Amino acid sequence: MYEDLKKRIVEVLVYLESKGLNYGRSGNISVRASGEHIVITPSGLVKSKLKPEDLVIVDYNGEIVEGFNKPSSELPLHLAIYRAYEYFNAIIHAHSIYTGILSVMREPLPPILEEMTIYLGGDIRVADYAPFGTRELAENSVEALRNRKAVILANHGVVACGIDLEDALEVLELVERAAQIYVFSRLTGRVTTLPIDVVEHQKKIFLERIKLRKEQEVSE
Ligand code: 13P
Ligand code: ZN
Repeated sequence: MYEDLKKRIVEVLVYLESKGLNYGRSGNISVRASGEHIVITPSGLVKSKLKPEDLVIVDYNGEIVEGFNKPSSELPLHLAIYRAYEYFNAIIHAHSIYTGILSVMREPLPPILEEMTIYLGGDIRVADYAPFGTRELAENSVEALRNRKAVILANHGVVACGIDLEDALEVLELVERAAQIYVFSRLTGRVTTLPIDVVEHQKKIFLERIKLRKEQEVSE
């Protein structure tokens, strides 16, 4: 089932590794394949070496529908995000470097670039620490993701969400790039965030777009 989608997930995993956005056995991807099924990466394997048949199909209760491998240990996180935010249809969790630095500093990424407010919803919060794969991590992430498309996981990595897989990938690249600019700016000692009125105005545009998307889905 969902052969094209599985192939695209595998391609994205190779791309992430080649761009230094993720590495080795870390990270995971899932996509809502239908109203009943989610396609998710398997747990503990080298992600850039996966084949389409290594991916696992689960239902919304997390039960395996197809596949030989164990689904990602972060399945509770993926399921909790899909339950809480109906407009997200794809999730990429990665261990990228600059968001990784912020995750260790436990500091949010402030709104420093307009693409952050327009495409991500503003600053990117850090979810309170909880060990990987736990329900607590899922809950903390859902909370910190409110009205945003990404969240930093304390001492861990980043989660990027999108209306589809391509969108989630764009979100991940945008967050990581902004985090890199922020970390280097901090080193110079001078960081100026966007004016507050601009942030508020652009956040509204972001939220209207998400709302519009929800309405489109309902009428589709
Ligand atoms: P999985 O291989 O189980 O998806 O775990 C990787 C990871 O990054 C856990 O947070
Ligand atoms: Zn992880």
